[in-house]
Amino acid sequence: MAGVRLIFLGAPGTGKGTQARRMSERFGLAALSSGDILRAEVRHGSAIGRKAEPFMVQGGLVPDEIITGVMLSGLDRLPPEQGFILDGFPRTVPQADALERGLAERGRPIDAVVDLSMADALIVARIGARRVCTKCDATYNIESLPPRAAGVCDRCGGRIEQRVDDRPETVSTRLATYRAQTAPLIEFYARRGLLRNVDASARPEAVEAAVAAIVTSLGRR
Ligand code: AMP
Repeated sequence: MAGVRLIFLGAPGTGKGTQARRMSERFGLAALSSGDILRAEVRHGSAIGRKAEPFMVQGGLVPDEIITGVMLSGLDRLPPEQGFILDGFPRTVPQADALERGLAERGRPIDAVVDLSMADALIVARIGARRVCTKCDATYNIESLPPRAAGVCDRCGGRIEQRVDDRPETVSTRLATYRAQTAPLIEFYARRGLLRNVDASARPEAVEAAVAAIVTSLGRR
């Protein structure tokens, strides 16, 4: 399974990042989260971070050329046989086209696209309770998965906060952006026979089992 190449699709708050990390640990896959990569660029004040930040703060999408370049160079740093999960990328049809071309050139096409689906009302509640570590991006939920000490990351001791773009006023913009720009990818990948749907509103362990069953069924080593 360590050579499997996957995309995790789904609106913000559906648990893509959590599931990507779990599958990465379980199957030895590299997990590349476009949001985590961009947030790290912003923290470091890089040229990419400075360009991306205004879009991120408003809940819109960073321009396609920027994120496509960032993600393809991230993939190029992996050993050729290394399997991976793309979490949060692609998010538009032009990004999906560019990724498909880039991976075809590299002889490393995607094996499956896992779509994590959930009703909007539940997404809003989940994002409202989400907190993240400002240092290592570990994710918590103040109701269902709180850190051991309030405000302190279990993993690295960093400070835990609500993401600026997880505030209610930005969440509705992000959901609208998802519906308009990212949801068309469901059809894009269904046409290619790659789409696998998972009900993301189930308990995290049940979602994890469903995603793991998909990875296992792909069966390449
Ligand atoms: P996320 O952590 O995946 O919710 O991403 C946080 C923010 O980063 C998004 O709201 C976008 O502004 C930006 N972002 C992440 N991935 C992409 C992408 N594939 N295309 C454009 N913008 C992105």
